[in-house]
Amino acid sequence: MIPIAKPLIGEEEKAAVLEVLGSGQLAQGRRVREFEERFAAWVGARYAVAVSSGTTALHVALLAHGVGPGDEVITTPFSFIASANCIVYAGATPRFADIEPEHYTIDPAAIEAQITPRTRAILPVHLFGQPCDMDAIAAIAERHGLAIIEDACQAHGAQLNGRPMGSWGTACYSFYPTKNMTTGEGGMITTDDPALAERMRMIREHGMRQRYVHETLGYNFRMTDMQAAIGLVQLRRVDGWNEQRRRNAALLTALLADAADVETPKVRPGALHVFHQYTVAVESRDRVIAALTERGIGYGIYYPIPIHRQQVYQERGYSDALPAAEAASARVLSLPVHPVLTEADVKAVADAVIAATREPVLT
Ligand SMILES: *Cc1c(COP(=O)(O)O)cnc(C)c1O
Repeated sequence: MIPIAKPLIGEEEKAAVLEVLGSGQLAQGRRVREFEERFAAWVGARYAVAVSSGTTALHVALLAHGVGPGDEVITTPFSFIASANCIVYAGATPRFADIEPEHYTIDPAAIEAQITPRTRAILPVHLFGQPCDMDAIAAIAERHGLAIIEDACQAHGAQLNGRPMGSWGTACYSFYPTKNMTTGEGGMITTDDPALAERMRMIREHGMRQRYVHETLGYNFRMTDMQAAIGLVQLRRVDGWNEQRRRNAALLTALLADAADVETPKVRPGALHVFHQYTVAVESRDRVIAALTERGIGYGIYYPIPIHRQQVYQERGYSDALPAAEAASARVLSLPVHPVLTEADVKAVADAVIAATREPVLT
């Protein structure tokens, strides 16, 4: 069996958690502070604020930027639902801009078309580990005075023209077990702005700076020291894992070069893609899935229904036509690319895809 994702927890992570358990300091404490410092240094940001998940990271980031009722935030319809739900949690309204079909990331031209006097922020998602067209997005944000909140939940370590994700604004990361690095559950927000960082720390902890003095409405979105202890170990290993993901992706792309009907992922020029997912587009998706299943190979469809087509958004009255996102949902298929695959595993994945796309279609 070759799984689609595999969290890598070694002896070091186990020892680090046991050490925290023995220390008696379980909730947010010195391990969280250390993880924040190391994470900020790793992404080249001045501040990092640890929270309970990628979803709460996005929620806190929007609140800290002052996004609320009456405001609109532009995001992509082709992502995990949290990318849009966080805007609703903040009391604001998501507006969806279609994607660039070749990269699956938000299309800057489509963002421009969604801007209204109520727009406050752009929330681009570096989907599958591929950086968005940040130079174009930053230019739009600058022109219209909008904040940028990057959803980097799938893009730990990704870069564009040597610039790490997160350096265009406020960036949010997830440490869910299937992500490029994990803490079980967990999230992180990075920023260079000291006032924003301070507000995020308050919102994560019941609006307090001083114990039991509550200056604003906050939440309990804290990370535990057990999680941070795992994260500190994972952070030392993630660059190597990303390198292995890139190697596996390059091999898959080479092996699938001649497969009929298979569009392999295109890396944006200047991008350091971290291949959270290796996603192909294929017309005969059901047949490929059958071949993978028969051979015990895992796969994923990220995402089968675009966000604006989900029931929760249909009930909110969304009826946008977003053809590139809809076309992607119908054809995408993610194949195993995680760092523990052997070369033989990668070849087995490619063989299954090639075999399925070679068979004649029976009518
Ligand atoms: C995983 C993910 C999130 C949410 O992170 P959680 O830690 O699961 O809450 C948000 N956006 C994207 C693009 C994600 O992949």
